[in-house]
Amino acid sequence: MGYNSSSSLNEAVRFHGHLGPYLILGILAGNTAVRKLKSGKYFNLYVKVWGAYKKPKSCLIDGLQLSTGATYGKGNIEKLKGRSIWIEVTNLSNSGRIRLSLKESLVAELKAANTHRAAEVLAKKLYKIKNCAKIFKLSPVTKINNNNP
Ligand SMILES: [Zn+2]
Repeated sequence: MGYNSSSSLNEAVRFHGHLGPYLILGILAGNTAVRKLKSGKYFNLYVKVWGAYKKPKSCLIDGLQLSTGATYGKGNIEKLKGRSIWIEVTNLSNSGRIRLSLKESLVAELKAANTHRAAEVLAKKLYKIKNCAKIFKLSPVTKINNNNP
């Protein structure tokens, strides 16, 4: 199931080139979205990410591609400018949609992890988190067609 075993973590690090907290956050956010939307990986979903334009924040995007299977090659992931990190995933078969952002406590931890070593320690800690509600703010899954009753 996705990227929640250490062998897959190694795979992610091999692909991305280093272990960092934003890579892990992308993996966790994508896993959470795919699970909640029941969209499956790769084709039946569309991912938008705001506020991850520059490194290290943009490392998030590689994690998202690994966990959702939405890729730049297939054109079903898109990065947009924004002041804070915000991820939106849409299930293309039923228009179910979920939005994730980072909790303030996590943003503070990310800011504090400003050395290579601290970033790696934080990445490993984040990877062990089972309940993603501890780090992400999730909006309920909505159907686009039901937004305006
Ligand atoms: Zn990175």
